[in-house]
Amino acid sequence: MSAAPGVTVAVDGPAGTGKSTVSRGLARALRARYLDTGAMYRIAALAVLRAGVDPADAEAVAAVAATADITVGAEVDTDRFYLAGEDVSDVIRGSEVTAAVSAVSSVPSVRERLVALQRQLAAGPEAIVVEGRDIGTVVLPDAPCKVFLTASAETRARRRNDQNIAAGLADDYPGVLADVRRRDHLDATRSTSPMRPAEDAVIVDTSDMTQTQVIEHLLDLVDQANGVRR
Ligand code: C5P
Repeated sequence: MSAAPGVTVAVDGPAGTGKSTVSRGLARALRARYLDTGAMYRIAALAVLRAGVDPADAEAVAAVAATADITVGAEVDTDRFYLAGEDVSDVIRGSEVTAAVSAVSSVPSVRERLVALQRQLAAGPEAIVVEGRDIGTVVLPDAPCKVFLTASAETRARRRNDQNIAAGLADDYPGVLADVRRRDHLDATRSTSPMRPAEDAVIVDTSDMTQTQVIEHLLDLVDQANGVRR
C-alpha cells in the first residue's frame, strides 16, 4: 500500500472517464482527503436556478454566485454539499443542474471565487486528491502529481447511459452521447480556464481499463511523484 503523507494529487478530465469513482478510490487508498470541485460549480448552478436567473445571463449569474452561501466537505466519506445550510448533495446531480452547470462555470468571476475556495480547502499538511477540469493547470499548478483522465466520447456516453439505467432513468444512448459532446465542447472552448491537460500531467486513457486498474496505475504515479520505486 502506498503511503503518501502530504502529497497533492490533481485529477482532471472530462465527464464519463470514471474520474469521481477513481479519485475517491485513490483518496481511500492513500488515506487522503478528497475534494470534488465539479460539485462546487453544481452548487453555484443550483443557486442560479433557484434565484430564477437564466444561466446564459452572465452578469446575473455573476451576481448570484458572488453571494451564494456554499459549503463543501473535503473528506472522502463525508463529502456533503450545502447551499445556504441546506444539504443539496443529491439535487446537484439532477438533470436541471447538469444542463445549467457549463454556462455557470464559464463565467470568470464564478471561477475566481470558487478557485480561491478550492485553494483554501486543499491547503494544509494532509494528502489530498482534488478532482476537476483545471486543477493541474490553474487551481494547483504546483501539485507534484497530475493526472488527466481521458476516454473516447462513445465510451464515456456508454458508461453514463449504463449508470442512468441502473439509477432507473431512461435508456438513451444517443441523447447521452450528444450531451457528452456538448459539454466537452463548452468546457474545451470557454475562454476562462478551458479544459486541457497540464504540460506535466500524465494522460491516462481509461477506455479499456477497469476502475481498479486505473486506481492501481494512479497509485504507481503517486509513488513516482514521491520518488518511491516499486
Ligand atoms: O465533474 P462534474 O461533471 O460534476 O462537473 C460539472 C461541471 O462543472 C463541468 O461540466 C464543468 O462545466 C464544471 N467544472 C469546471 N471546473 C472544474 C470542475 C467542474 O468548470 N474544476
